[in-house]
Amino acid sequence: MIDIHSHILPGIDDGAQTVEDSIKMAKLAVEEGITKIVATPHHQNGKYTNPKADIIKRVSELNQILQKENIPLEVLPGQETRIYGELIEDIDKGDILPLNHTNYLFIELPSGNIPRYTEQLLFDIQLKGFTPIIVHPERNAGVMENPDKLLNLVKKGSLTQVTAGSITGRFGKKIQKLSMQLIESNMTHFISSDAHNISTRGFHIKESISEIRKEFGEQAIYYFHENSELLIKGQIIYKQEPSAIKRKKFLGIF
Ligand code: FE
Repeated sequence: MIDIHSHILPGIDDGAQTVEDSIKMAKLAVEEGITKIVATPHHQNGKYTNPKADIIKRVSELNQILQKENIPLEVLPGQETRIYGELIEDIDKGDILPLNHTNYLFIELPSGNIPRYTEQLLFDIQLKGFTPIIVHPERNAGVMENPDKLLNLVKKGSLTQVTAGSITGRFGKKIQKLSMQLIESNMTHFISSDAHNISTRGFHIKESISEIRKEFGEQAIYYFHENSELLIKGQIIYKQEPSAIKRKKFLGIF
């Protein structure tokens, strides 16, 4: 399978710190059934700046190392770009790197809220010819408080990616429940690891797949697998009409 979100490049963000870390992560990825992994280092999140050209160079270096180590994993270039005011200018400057050189672009919201300019910026990104993919919305406080805000962004053309560890409960029950609700209401299009290391922020792909299978059946697994494949080829992904999260009956009363 293909993992579209990871911090496997060494020494450039809060993911792998050394080449040895990257190798350990790569071995674990293979054990998890991953054959291709997109390296998506943080960009402009207040701490890390990783422009396009630099990432491309480092991805090819890591691929050479993995080949030498006989690890059957291919690393593809990507970037996890934090939403910020000058994003459009930086697209024009050539600092922004869509996933595997397609027109799909990772966008990270700050964890505490959804900035007021988000809707406009996501619209402007689409005018530039890119499809924004909002990463781990289930971990954003604004989305948790009011998932309809995410529904609005999805209806207006943004895609979303839920993190495997959120589905397995690594970030708590509330985030786990919201993740399942986002799947149920067709508000998410991709599942990926966002792996940072092999201990505290690992892959959890297999475990998340079995959780999704239990809840939504084989069809859902197929849907997410297909979408990751289509994404890295730059093809049109599958979407289903998103809907508001259903409120469950409480004591038989809505
Ligand atoms: Fe990430």
